[in-house]
Amino acid sequence: MKVTIIGHWGGFPKAREASSGYLIEHDGYKLLLECGSGVVSSVQEVTDIKDIDAVLITHYHYDHCCDIGPLQYARQIKTQLKEISAPLPIYGPQGEFFRLLKWEDYTYGVGFDENSNLTLGPFEISFIKNIHPLEAYSARIKCKDKVLSYTSDTSYFEDLAGFFKGSDLLICECSFYSDMDGTKAGHLTSSQAGLLAEKARVRKLILTHLPHFGDLNNLLAEAREYYEGEIELASYMKEINI
Ligand SMILES: [Zn+2]
Ligand SMILES: [Zn+2]
Repeated sequence: MKVTIIGHWGGFPKAREASSGYLIEHDGYKLLLECGSGVVSSVQEVTDIKDIDAVLITHYHYDHCCDIGPLQYARQIKTQLKEISAPLPIYGPQGEFFRLLKWEDYTYGVGFDENSNLTLGPFEISFIKNIHPLEAYSARIKCKDKVLSYTSDTSYFEDLAGFFKGSDLLICECSFYSDMDGTKAGHLTSSQAGLLAEKARVRKLILTHLPHFGDLNNLLAEAREYYEGEIELASYMKEINI
């Protein structure tokens, strides 16, 4: 499968970039994981919006979901232009925002929780509930014999490593530097991301949901103190094949 990082900033996007968004493709199927601010604009660098088959939102903080509205309008316009005819499924947790996933006949919501096993095209997706101020989930996305794991937003907890065990790639949030404490905010530090990757024995680690302060290269160095495998910082339009 191929992953393209559409957006990787925590909270809000840097100029001309995006907050959380990842396009995951295999055999022509396109899954948009997260639809944060700037994603509808940026994703068009790599795909026409009419070609997106499904969207998955891990929780309803705006940096993960606020471009759902523009995405719905795009689908409406492209339906009216007869470029597409089928409504777009948007998978998300039940909750206050869930009803907004339906927009007339253009998009509809499908709920999931930690007990769900979704099959979306070639992808089999399972979830674990995160520790975060809002209901949020990490996802494990299997495609044939490859596994992509994604933390979304969470504080550190022991069961995460087991859930991500043996993944080919872990896209891990890294909101804070190692000398900070993300527990109260529901986020991970660089050293926790490294520790998680090491415990889960993942093949590659990408740090994402990056902070708007400090020297981001320090995040890499701090994670490397715990994890010996390959680590990279997420960057705009980075492509990873696994
Ligand atoms: Zn976030
Ligand atoms: Zn969040």
